[in-house]
Amino acid sequence: MRARPTMVIIGAGQSGARTAHALRDNGWEGGITLLGNESVAPYDRPPLSKAVLLGEKSTAQCALYDEAFYREQRIDLCMDAAVERIDRAARHVVVKGGLTVQYHRLLIATGAAPRKLTVPGSTLAGVHCLRTVADAAQIVDELQPGRRIAIVGAGFIGLEIAATAVARGCEVVVIETAARALMRAVPEVVAGYLVARHRQMGVDIRFAVQVERILGEQRVSGIKLSDGSTVACDCVIAGIGVKPRTELAEAAGIDVADGIAVDDTLRTNDPTIFAAGDVCSFPHRLFRRRIRLECWKNAEDHARIVARNMVDRGETYSEVPWFWSDQYDMTIQIAGIPAFAVTTTVREVGAASRIFFGLDREGVLVGASGVGNISEIARDVRIAQELIARRANIDPALLADRSVKLKPLLAVEA
Ligand code: NAP
Repeated sequence: MRARPTMVIIGAGQSGARTAHALRDNGWEGGITLLGNESVAPYDRPPLSKAVLLGEKSTAQCALYDEAFYREQRIDLCMDAAVERIDRAARHVVVKGGLTVQYHRLLIATGAAPRKLTVPGSTLAGVHCLRTVADAAQIVDELQPGRRIAIVGAGFIGLEIAATAVARGCEVVVIETAARALMRAVPEVVAGYLVARHRQMGVDIRFAVQVERILGEQRVSGIKLSDGSTVACDCVIAGIGVKPRTELAEAAGIDVADGIAVDDTLRTNDPTIFAAGDVCSFPHRLFRRRIRLECWKNAEDHARIVARNMVDRGETYSEVPWFWSDQYDMTIQIAGIPAFAVTTTVREVGAASRIFFGLDREGVLVGASGVGNISEIARDVRIAQELIARRANIDPALLADRSVKLKPLLAVEA
């Protein structure tokens, strides 16, 4: 008897789990096997650096779906099921322990792994990174009032944890190798605005300096920096970026280019294998280049599109990236890719709320970063997202002038 055709998904993170769901929504009646290498069911990551560390939400409350969902949707969720190999000729994957699972179509949604500190002392107790619920459970215990927390990396993880640690009454120092924060994510003026707020809240942020060594016997007691200074601390949290988990794909001969290389339907160079989420790079029509995104909304968007293409709908992906972060009472919403901008224009939309519009060399709007009060920035960022989708070329003077409404500009660009 022939086995029932099965969609196999490697990686039970946001994009993997959402794809399993979307396959059913798209009428797939065959098998769905979702293979994860953690011991918990798929969960939402954004609360980990915020509500979970603040103690306002448990890790269990981050689950994407309850148990009944997997049963009702006939999704075979396998936890602690690390895949060791993809056999493209046999069209199966080999799971730790030797089990093979045959696939009709395969999705690789293995996400990204946090870069680890490698300096001497990095294995001491009290050195953490934040990616999983298990990491969050350890860090939440560290953030006790009065404790001194050293954060390495002024990216989104580092800055969100800094804000959370301050709210929990900790003393915080942030160490960043680059000359400024959020180098890859936003232009300098946006990063400067955020950093000013952190400093106002008492965070000691140091740029252009490296951690040379983590000090301590069994447990961390401080860090030694490349400028010769020493910072006493009770715990170190590294947020120094992530690396796409491409090893399985590479070993199977699937093309990789800063992530698993897929086309705009999220298909790899093997027509039966797809990739989605943080792990893949894809050509983007709007930005006219291959990009890789590491954010929640991209995982959601990819899941929706890839599920349709796994059932042969032939849909292309061209969503405008969108990203948010919460730090103190500020929301940051980013549409498009501000890092592709060569000039930035600021619009003041409230006493402490700004929208930073990023234009490329041709004057095309490629990114908009709203920082401040959510009710003052959200609408304009949403309209900017539509303007980016239309590759709008707008006079910077109009963007800077808050008396000029953005919505009518959509009609001009339609
Ligand atoms: P990230 O945004 O890449 O930032 C890491 C920062 O650490 C970079 O500025 C990096 O500088 C710096 N760095 C690297 N090595 C260092 C070292 N040895 N010492 C000091 N600084 C160092 O990554 P992340 O903040 O770790 O976040 C991980 C992922 O989670 C990212 O994809 C991020 O977008 C995502 N995330 C998203 C949200 C959200 O959606 N709100 C929140 C948190 C995290 P270089 O650029 O020079 O390497």
